[in-house]
Amino acid sequence: MIELKGLTKHYGDKVAVDQLTFTVRPGIVTGFLGPNGAGKSTTMRMVLGLDNPTAGSVRIDGKHYRQLKDPLTYVGALLDAKAMHGGRSAANHLLCLAQSNGIPRARVDEVLDLVGLTSVVKKRSRGFSLGMGQRLGIAAALLGNPRILMFDEPVNGLDPEGIHWIRHVMKRLAAQGRTVFVSSHLMSEMALTAEHLVVIGKGRLLADTSMAEFIQENSRSYVRLRSPERERLLDVLHRAGVRAVAGPDGALEVDGVPAERLGELAAAQRVVLHELSPQQASLEEAFMQLTAGVVEYHARNGGGPAAGRRGPSRPAVPERALSVGPPPGSWGTGRQRKRS
Ligand code: ADP
Repeated sequence: MIELKGLTKHYGDKVAVDQLTFTVRPGIVTGFLGPNGAGKSTTMRMVLGLDNPTAGSVRIDGKHYRQLKDPLTYVGALLDAKAMHGGRSAANHLLCLAQSNGIPRARVDEVLDLVGLTSVVKKRSRGFSLGMGQRLGIAAALLGNPRILMFDEPVNGLDPEGIHWIRHVMKRLAAQGRTVFVSSHLMSEMALTAEHLVVIGKGRLLADTSMAEFIQENSRSYVRLRSPERERLLDVLHRAGVRAVAGPDGALEVDGVPAERLGELAAAQRVVLHELSPQQASLEEAFMQLTAGVVEYHARNGGGPAAGRRGPSRPAVPERALSVGPPPGSWGTGRQRKRS
């Protein structure tokens, strides 16, 4: 387990990490999410004793990193794929690490095979592509067969095959009962990999929740309806106590009522429908919403997460058409948002 208690890091006036308290558990992949500059790398560096906390503490299986004997056999990490001696071959790079941590030489060949670098063992790492560098970094993390693994933005710069491979590796390591802690600024990537999420923004904890709970609380499902007889449809829904809101393109959107029921209501009154489609708002959108107020670097016009999105502020249809039902944009108002 990795346990953080009130972990804080200041760089001069800058608060990079602000009183983080959470636990990373074994057997699952825990995604560590936040916009760029949120404090993810700083947190991971403090876990590994590479940076000293200004306040608070972090423990690995109850110990400070520096108290671990042969630390690579406890915790393996990929923080920066380029942080290696460019003049060394892949095999020599791993051999140096193995010898300083009491790891047998045979393990070097094993991990090179595991990450698919056997054919380039003699090549100097300065000639490696980003993807090969990431694979070598993962080999180094796996070298000591540790129970705990940390990866900082491991899919950055990888091609789809590499991304698929890393996803698979992380899930397999977790399935073996290991603790896998992986950072990303991409919600879509984490949605495919992590079972648990820790979300931070500007160094502060925004959410510590299971992926299933995050999806349930933050991704809004609704039904889209389009009709050439929009006013009649609104009346029919209104009389049935169904609340509809206007989507950005003029279509109607209804929360909390199944598509089947809406279709039956329209059919009973012979209202023509051109569209009746269940929708699921993306988790990416939910994540952007959650972190909108804590993004460090915004694009000036329209490019920032807070700009131009459809969300809870969608316009409702004219008042006369509104009726009982769930509030519009009820997604994203859950526990996580309140914390921020
Ligand atoms: P993330 O990994 O989430 O992108 P970082 O941990 O790299 O975020 O950075 C968090 C904040 O701390 C950023 O504002 C960054 O500029 C600042 N920061 C990180 N390292 C240093 C440092 N060595 N000196 C000064 N500021 C730093």
